[in-house]
Amino acid sequence: MKKRILVVEDNKTLAKLIAKKISIELDFEVDTAYNLQEAKLFLKRYKYFLTLLDLNLPDAPNGEIVDYALKLNNRVIVLSASIDKDFRRAVLKKNIIDYVNKSGVNDVNYIIQTIKRVQKNSNHTVLVIDDSMVFRKQMQGLLENMFFKVIAVAHGEEALGILSTNSSISLVLTDYHMPVMDGLELTIEIRKTYTKTDLAIIVVSEDNDEETTALFLKNGANDYMKKSFSKEEFSCRINNSIEALENIQEITNHANRDFLTGLYNRRYFFANASKYFDDAKKNSEHFAIAMIDIDHFKKINDTYSQEIGDRVIVNLADILRTSTSNDDIVARLGGEEFCILLKNVSAQKALEIFEKIKEKVENHVSMRDKNEEIKFTVSMGVTTTHDEDLNASVNEADMMLHNAKQNGRNQIAIS
Ligand code: GH3
Ligand code: MG
Ligand code: MG
Repeated sequence: MKKRILVVEDNKTLAKLIAKKISIELDFEVDTAYNLQEAKLFLKRYKYFLTLLDLNLPDAPNGEIVDYALKLNNRVIVLSASIDKDFRRAVLKKNIIDYVNKSGVNDVNYIIQTIKRVQKNSNHTVLVIDDSMVFRKQMQGLLENMFFKVIAVAHGEEALGILSTNSSISLVLTDYHMPVMDGLELTIEIRKTYTKTDLAIIVVSEDNDEETTALFLKNGANDYMKKSFSKEEFSCRINNSIEALENIQEITNHANRDFLTGLYNRRYFFANASKYFDDAKKNSEHFAIAMIDIDHFKKINDTYSQEIGDRVIVNLADILRTSTSNDDIVARLGGEEFCILLKNVSAQKALEIFEKIKEKVENHVSMRDKNEEIKFTVSMGVTTTHDEDLNASVNEADMMLHNAKQNGRNQIAIS
């Protein structure tokens, strides 16, 4: 079921414009109310992902709707044309997500961007570290209101433990002055393991020494904020760091993936599999490597077209992806050649998995062309032995692949 957003705004043209933009650009059901009375009916009836509320309504001229919606545990973005500074401050003191002007088209775009932002925030976990419980709770509240998942702890050591077991943390928000391990030591310790591509660190401190900010930034913090921050400064800085992180991660992801299939590319495979290979060797962990190549692929290209050839490659990629687990590495090394590294698996189990892939490919119909079924098969070369390095093991699998081709294709050769 689609999530809902409530827009309450007495300017009907503007209300409709916002509602229309939201339903076109985002996947929400949008309700529109033009006064407090109508809004109350909606709020009683539905649970909302977000409410956008005008402060000045015919039957509620002083922002009464905000308190009403907050009391029912709604998340609120305030819409207002008023720019009175004191009024703005008073509204921001309430537990709202953001305060948005509504005078132009750009403001409507800002609203859409803000909704997109909070939607993405729900994929991120923030780790808050502060020895002051009051402050910890305050930051936790602000972050949860912005849709983040939050883990809050009182000590740096505890934070390091949580980081090592929880890979979903995107942002660390730490205090400076804390007993035992302070925020600077914690920042330095975190950066030994996690780069700025892995997670962002923001320091929040009451420290007034003018050198402190630079000290933190030089030691790996992404940003530094005084504890006297306003709610708007807080959310802008948090969002900036999270957006920068998302952008870096997206670029890294592109660099690691093959464009056609979305599988890992050759570069990523060798960098990542090598690391695993060396660890597995140390720990005597079993693994399996398979080189996979489509049989007579040139004929598919020649008989049908390059496009259909591409589609066959994508179909095979999907089969490989769905037949392996998330920990395994599946890569397209080039053309119609793929490589799979199965981690922590016995030779027997690995062979079962590869046999199943071979069968799935045999039974798969890529598409019908003029009532003709387009089908294909693959040959595989498999090794489960630890040669001196990854390259040697991949070469061994490649030799097995050559044997499988020589012996008639559509088969697996194993060493
Ligand atoms: P074998 O059974 O011995 O593997 O024969 P084959 O025809 O599959 O192998 P061969 O190496 O002779 O031909 C592979 C062909 O794959 C040649 C090349 O034009 C084509 N090819 C390489 N990359 C792509 C691609 O990205 N898309 C398409 N459609 N074709 C590609
Ligand atoms: Mg403190
Ligand atoms: Mg081939």
